[in-house]
Amino acid sequence: MDFALTEEQVAIFDMAYAFGQEHIAPFAAEWEAQGTIPRELWLKVGELGLGGLYVSEEAGGAGLGRLDATLVFEALSMACPSVASFLSIHNMCAAMLDRFASDDIKARILAPAIAMETVLSYCLTEPGAGSDAAALKTRAEKTNEGYRLNGTKAFISGGGYSDAYVVMVRTGAEGAKGISTVVVEHGTAGLSYGGLESKMGWRSQPTRQVQFDDCLVPHDNLVGTEGDGFKYAMIGLDGGRLNISACSLGGAQQALNQTLTYMGERKAFGKTIDQFQALQFRLADLEIELQAARIFLRQAAWKLDQKAPDATKFCAMAKKFVTEAGSMVADQCLQLHGGYGYLSDYGIEKIVRDLRVHQILEGTNEIMRMITARTLLAERG
Ligand SMILES: Cc1cc2nc3c(=O)[nH]c(=O)nc-3n(C[C@H](O)[C@H](O)[C@H](O)COP(=O)(O)OP(=O)(O)OC[C@H]3O[C@@H](n4cnc5c(N)ncnc54)[C@H](O)[C@@H]3O)c2cc1C
Repeated sequence: MDFALTEEQVAIFDMAYAFGQEHIAPFAAEWEAQGTIPRELWLKVGELGLGGLYVSEEAGGAGLGRLDATLVFEALSMACPSVASFLSIHNMCAAMLDRFASDDIKARILAPAIAMETVLSYCLTEPGAGSDAAALKTRAEKTNEGYRLNGTKAFISGGGYSDAYVVMVRTGAEGAKGISTVVVEHGTAGLSYGGLESKMGWRSQPTRQVQFDDCLVPHDNLVGTEGDGFKYAMIGLDGGRLNISACSLGGAQQALNQTLTYMGERKAFGKTIDQFQALQFRLADLEIELQAARIFLRQAAWKLDQKAPDATKFCAMAKKFVTEAGSMVADQCLQLHGGYGYLSDYGIEKIVRDLRVHQILEGTNEIMRMITARTLLAERG
């Protein structure tokens, strides 16, 4: 067993970290205030090969493993968790298209997305179907002209901003087996968007409802096989959950790094606050938590790379553990900054706000416990 990253993996992390510090960190607060991420950033990200991280090389992607991808998201989150997580959703969609879509979709929709000339969104959640996603109601009726979509998707990251939407729709009966996946391009008649959601964190990326009213897409926009859409959506989320966890890890690590510097400068009772043993013990606890989270995340990513039979359980367990550890660490770092942690100038409160949603989306942490417990009981026999 070897716990060390390879030289190539260290280089991947360093490259993403350097890119984030130069092209994202200095602008993160401004983009948050504006509520949008400039498209030029994505073109630079595409040039660097980060638009299809674990898309196969045959399809034009970087062909990296899931563990490699977590390194990229950890490093980019040290600059801004909101920007990094937005890229993670795009990558999740790209990987789904690479794995399941036709050559036609790969040429028309995936290729420009890998270059990040276009951006992809993932549409599963509905106003009446969140955790119970298999209850979704958005209907795609098969007609001679194509699939006619009617329904509403809720909480869509990149809604109204993205160029193409990977949408889970009902083409058959109730339940998971009646669900298919189609791609809907921005500009398609019958596709519209709700108002901008006002959110606690992830404020640089727009979240909106995505609405389909007799929205007709060609038969060719079906991804894979009718009835397999829920399976594709869940496979996408296995990797997505690792990426979101990596974003928590990177954000929390950045908060801890800043806190270590701050505590060496801030004085109280005649000494710098890093001299108080109570606070040193707090720092030790935060470091232990983050290192445990990192090892757990990388083990889950390794399991997915190995196609291990228990990979889904490990992705769920890691998502629950790492996102909760990340939020706890960021919150404690805010506390160690005293009142200054609460001010936006120091950047810590933004990390706390950005990381909080990681416990909710791509399956809430209650659902992660459900997946874990279900597998545990099944393994017992
Ligand atoms: C900022 C943001 C961005 C998002 N981006 C996207 C996106 O791009 N695409 C997309 O498809 N979705 C997206 N989502 C939606 C997200 O995935 C859902 O919010 C999430 O799955 C939870 O669904 P819900 O909000 O309907 O909560 P509900 O399902 O209503 O859950 C409410 C509470 O009940 C708990 N609960 C539900 N069922 C059970 C159970 N059986 N046992 C125990 N507890 C349970 C939940 O854990 C939660 O605490 C986003 C959400 C947010 C906030």
